[in-house]
Amino acid sequence: MKLIAPERYPDFQCIAGACRHSCCIGWEIDIDPESLRRFQQMPGEMGERLRQSIDTTGETACFALKGWEERCPFLNDDGLCDMILELGEDSLCQICTDHPRFRYSFAGHTEIGLGLCCEAAGRLLLGDPLPMKLTVIEDDGADEVDDPEENELLELRDSLFALMQDRSLPMMQRMEQLLPAAEIDWTEWADFLLELERLDEKWAELLELLPQACPEAIPDVLETPMEQLMCYLLYRHLPGALEDGDTEGRIRYCALIGQLVARLSVLTGCRTLDDFVELARLYSSEIEYSDENVSAILDQLAQ
Ligand code: SF4
Repeated sequence: MKLIAPERYPDFQCIAGACRHSCCIGWEIDIDPESLRRFQQMPGEMGERLRQSIDTTGETACFALKGWEERCPFLNDDGLCDMILELGEDSLCQICTDHPRFRYSFAGHTEIGLGLCCEAAGRLLLGDPLPMKLTVIEDDGADEVDDPEENELLELRDSLFALMQDRSLPMMQRMEQLLPAAEIDWTEWADFLLELERLDEKWAELLELLPQACPEAIPDVLETPMEQLMCYLLYRHLPGALEDGDTEGRIRYCALIGQLVARLSVLTGCRTLDDFVELARLYSSEIEYSDENVSAILDQLAQ
């Protein structure tokens, strides 16, 4: 079975203590059953600390977050993980090992990527000046399984990558081919998005800007990051059409999010990669890490 990823994937490194929006703050951290068993049997002081830090009252065991910030109980004051420091990376539970990676399993291969809710991933992916390419990062040599439905979707996605990477056209023109901006009523979308589940009030402040009059184009400096964002969205969200059959809706979802981030970047006067990465990070953590929010947008696009 092949494992496929964007070419920059292997360059990812968590920036730990230097991270401004640590995934160890404010996010529920579920513990998988195997790690839970391991944690419950761990001897010594760390074992005792672990057992005192796990909440098993809900459906899924999770770390009991601390304080108003909701920090992971193992995140120390330097922004580092005490579990990694004392027991090594192999001691982590599945979700902490995986984050910010996402996977999609096809019949013949698996795809893996880095989520934009992580600022280090955002800088790596959105800051890449070269067109995104996929590459095989692991191959166990097993026979490939051919699935016509998957092949058709992946060919379509390749053609959309090519469209988004056609640098002979300004980025907004490329995006217009997926969803014309004139079809988007930003007042309605702002109202709709403001009703969805939310983590950070900063996102609400941004959404409230959407109905404002806005010049169409994004600054030149954001052309390539915007292209990378569109390819990321198509890479991550189009495969879901194999489950829900909503290929068109998912293309429109990617285009809507692209237009949304582009509009916010213009309305907020965003001129640097870092500011753009922050807008993409907010979208990612507020929308795409909530299945309910993605489904709600897909349902709304279908109306
Ligand atoms: S968000 Fe990314 S860079 Fe920040 S702590 Fe998590 S994995 Fe590391």
